[in-house]
Amino acid sequence: MSETPGIFPVLGLPVHLLEDYAGWLWERLQEQIGAHVVTLNAEMAMQAERDRSLASIIHQAELVIPDGSGVVLYLRFQGKRLQRCPGIELAESMLRQAGKLGKSCPVFFFGGAPGVAETAAAAWQEKMPSLAIATQHGYLSPETELQFLESLKNLQPGLILVGLGVPRQEFWIAKHRALCPQAIWIGVGGSLDIWAGVKSRAPGWLRNNHLEWLYRLYKEPWRWRRMLALPQFAWKAFYKG
Ligand code: UDP
Repeated sequence: MSETPGIFPVLGLPVHLLEDYAGWLWERLQEQIGAHVVTLNAEMAMQAERDRSLASIIHQAELVIPDGSGVVLYLRFQGKRLQRCPGIELAESMLRQAGKLGKSCPVFFFGGAPGVAETAAAAWQEKMPSLAIATQHGYLSPETELQFLESLKNLQPGLILVGLGVPRQEFWIAKHRALCPQAIWIGVGGSLDIWAGVKSRAPGWLRNNHLEWLYRLYKEPWRWRRMLALPQFAWKAFYKG
């Protein structure tokens, strides 16, 4: 491995700091070592405060990236120099790399309402025809999930993007990752919706000013209760230490 991640605590959870996350993961993928990538933000950190099993999965992940502004600002406040690494952008870098390998690096999109993963895959394949993407929506009955797990095992994708939302996707990956031990598994939240054109990302100027949460609240006001985690995170991380 070219670079060893520095590991820094945020509310007792590890965050890995690297210059080049995609490069690091790409090396792992080529060496067939496999990894679970967690994209940590303030909401997830607060959920892990209440749920020790989620915290334990985050501790076991090979890579925990600073996905959310709250996490980044806290680490900067602690004197660390770092750039935010949004999970969607890391997943996009990995997809571009996988496209160069074509069929020798099959990709899987799992999650979203019926039709979303297929539309997201079609959008990617239009941009990168060499990408080999298989898909499955994220609302399976227990019986169809068993069939799906069997097909995942047979396919052995190199890159598996799981968009079931937090923390469902983290639990799901931790439970099933042994099926494809050499794969890079990333919990991508609503990224499949964004690639499918069902949802949009905040404009760059909001993202660059740490205001992505405001856009989310405007687009999805019903998330307000869940988003109370943000001030709670700020209070706990910055004031209570
Ligand atoms: N989802 C799913 N199966 C479920 C519940 C949710 O596939 O049982 C999908 C949902 O359709 C959406 C994604 O999970 O595409 C959650 O997106 P969100 O933006 O809420 O992710 P988060 O903010 O939790 O990262």
